[in-house]
Amino acid sequence: MNKLVPSVVRLISSGQVIHSIQSVIKELIENSLDAGATSIDIKLENFGLDKIEIRDNGCGIPATETAYMGQKHYTSKLRDMQDLSSIMTYGFRGEALSSLCAVSDVSIVTKTQTDNVSTFYELHYDGTIKKSKPSHYGQGTSIIACNLFKSLPVRRQVYKTNKKCKEELKRIEDLIISYAIIKPTVRFCLKHNKSVIWQKCQVADIGSAISVAFGRAVFSEMITINYKGEDPAFSLRGYIPKNYSNDELTGRSNSDRCFIYINQRPVMFKGVLQAIKHHYLACQKGQINKWPIAILDFTIDSKLVDVNVESSKTQVYLSFKVYQFQFPLFIELYNTIDYLMLTLKLKSS
Ligand code: ADP
Ligand code: MG
Repeated sequence: MNKLVPSVVRLISSGQVIHSIQSVIKELIENSLDAGATSIDIKLENFGLDKIEIRDNGCGIPATETAYMGQKHYTSKLRDMQDLSSIMTYGFRGEALSSLCAVSDVSIVTKTQTDNVSTFYELHYDGTIKKSKPSHYGQGTSIIACNLFKSLPVRRQVYKTNKKCKEELKRIEDLIISYAIIKPTVRFCLKHNKSVIWQKCQVADIGSAISVAFGRAVFSEMITINYKGEDPAFSLRGYIPKNYSNDELTGRSNSDRCFIYINQRPVMFKGVLQAIKHHYLACQKGQINKWPIAILDFTIDSKLVDVNVESSKTQVYLSFKVYQFQFPLFIELYNTIDYLMLTLKLKSS
């Protein structure tokens, strides 16, 4: 039996955290949001394979912490297991930057409010600092990753065809939209090879963000859900189409525009997707060729949610207690929709 050398261990584990171009963008956006940014610029060259640059205006990284920022399991967000049950930041594992260093050439520019000037850092493969020098950026952090997956040639080859690259760019756009909706007061801009692919200015609320993302016409076809049960540990706000038959405005052939969040974290929540599908099937009389655009944000006491299931944190475990809350929620969901459908029917007859 062989003990793997540290560089191989690092590469194997990093390849799991950073498994696609989209996963890099996800980790870096979450870091910017955790840093309190209100403006996030994402620039890609050659679909992100040659260069990914994410710049934010967040709190920056204090000089006392920069030596650790690229090191595995160093995080400013979690101290012990107790913290994990009340964690409200997107990140907590201290894995993203170190993994990114293992699979690309990383440099970071950062400035806190109290720093006089920003500092540019070039990082080694193992996350240690190769060199640093003063630079001229404003407050916030820029993370630049070049030559992604240079040490994982098969992973890089996944993006060999233009079709695969374009599909990944679409996934990145959808990912950015999912954060842009749930964080309406944050400005987002995605550029690819200098062309703007998608952008959203700062807006006041989720409704305005939906209007910007999908158009006013789509938003005006939606109803608001505001569910507050007796137990303060669980509530739901969201928007769903009031008239599912209006495919042109709301329909997609898959569920990738059903945005589901738990405590503002985009998640896969199969039970809720099932509920939407079930209702939609009924409305479409058994034909499900279009899914609606739906935005549902569950606020659940963080003690009842386990987000530490897999590296992307989109799969979560919920305490049984949540399923007890869920039951009245679905009745509420169905009732709201049914009531609206009925009123619409009555109006049109
Ligand atoms: P985690 O997010 O789990 O803490 P990361 O590897 O993503 O781990 O980041 C390591 C640390 O680097 C963070 O805990 C944070 O202190 C700092 N950091 C990373 N990105 C940013 C950013 N955009 N702005 C401010 N600090 C950042
Ligand atoms: Mg992180």
